[in-house]
Amino acid sequence: MITLSEFDGKRVAVLGLARSGLAAIRALLAGGAEILAWDDDEAARAAAGDLARHDLASIDWAGVTALVLSPGIPHSFPQPHPAVVAARAAGVPIIGDIELLGRARPNARYVGITGTNGKSTTTALIGHILATAGRPLEIGGNLGTPVLSFAPLGQDGTYVLECSSFQLELIESLAFDVAVLLNITPDHLDRHGDMAGYIAAKRRIFAGQRPGSVAVVGVDDAICRGLYEELRRSPARVIPASAERPVEGGVYAERGRLIDATAERPITVLDLAQAPRLPGSHNWQNAAAAYAATQAMGIPPEVITEAIRSFPGLAHRQELVGMIGGVRYINDSKATNADAAEKALACYDAIYWIAGGLPKEGGITSLRPYFGRVRHAYLIGTATEEFAATLGTSAPLTRCGDLATATLAAFEAARRDGISGAVVLLSPACASYDQFAHFEARGDAFRELVGRLVRGEGV
Ligand code: ADP
Repeated sequence: MITLSEFDGKRVAVLGLARSGLAAIRALLAGGAEILAWDDDEAARAAAGDLARHDLASIDWAGVTALVLSPGIPHSFPQPHPAVVAARAAGVPIIGDIELLGRARPNARYVGITGTNGKSTTTALIGHILATAGRPLEIGGNLGTPVLSFAPLGQDGTYVLECSSFQLELIESLAFDVAVLLNITPDHLDRHGDMAGYIAAKRRIFAGQRPGSVAVVGVDDAICRGLYEELRRSPARVIPASAERPVEGGVYAERGRLIDATAERPITVLDLAQAPRLPGSHNWQNAAAAYAATQAMGIPPEVITEAIRSFPGLAHRQELVGMIGGVRYINDSKATNADAAEKALACYDAIYWIAGGLPKEGGITSLRPYFGRVRHAYLIGTATEEFAATLGTSAPLTRCGDLATATLAAFEAARRDGISGAVVLLSPACASYDQFAHFEARGDAFRELVGRLVRGEGV
């Protein structure tokens, strides 16, 4: 755990009592601070016990040194939380947990990763490469461990941090030694006001970089290409990364081969087909960016490529959870929208597709080009009728209601058809909240069901 001694004897307010807020409280208490905590949700307040007795929207802010804000709570759009308004009016600084980590451990190295898609995968991959190289590190942030629960690291240690745009907005003084921006497409616009606000938040990953800092920029979308051109004038070493085309001085994938062009002559360093846990061309961007970042940190290319090959992957993102009679069972529960599901559908030819849940705007209309690959669709949850209408006669479908029924039906059909190379794919293109607590619970349920089928127990 990090000890935040900066606030010894001071009064600090903490708003938001999920995992990162609770970790902040522990770190502040260890440093001797006095805490006022709040969460609008009663169950979350209960987790903080006696500390959460004062609604921060109505306390006297005189004498409060700082407000530590969870990234999920709006501080600007669509409208700031009332406690944020009150703190601002009283001139109390609003701080996020990554900023606090940076102040408490100023000598460690910091790698930050952001982008609309691929953050978790790239963060985990960079962590895996550094671990393979034997570097001391902690990995977390938006993904996994809250940063104030990290072990304290010194000069030889590296914090690898997945940063959402909300977290970036709450960083003031921390400058990343290595900053990675993967891509930008419209997302979370309600929280950032508009696209300009979202881009402004994302580009803060490069704030404060100096000579010797490294900026890795994915250049496969127009917005990031524009940022790359701007950044080339910054003092940092700027390295472009692409999954699509050769980029001078950068790292890129060309027809699935990873090429390092950071030195004089481009060198092919890896055939990405040898990285089974990074399926699909979208993952080439993640691999190129992770290679560029870690090579710039002095990790030898052969160690990086070995680590890319042995990357174990992340749960719920095209995770292989079972194999029955030559058919692979793939958990892609993280695909909560059509864009993400498209990435998985593009990887396979004979698909028994389990889809549905709470649909997003636009549903699965954008997935029409892939319907020819679907042997049969098994629909669950609220989206059932909408998705059935979109699928029409393009693919046979069954209305299954729930995940267990869908998994069993897909298993029986796949076994009956006996197509080698076929996949049973849970890639729902929907949020999970109509039937599950979150996408992880949905993916865990699928893994459990498949495990029972593998053991011949039935579901
Ligand atoms: P994030 O943490 O940004 O949500 P993840 O690494 O968890 O990203 O990946 C989530 C989903 O986004 C994956 O299942 C995949 O469908 C898609 N994805 C991953 N990497 C990329 C990328 N570089 N570009 C576009 N889509 C991606």
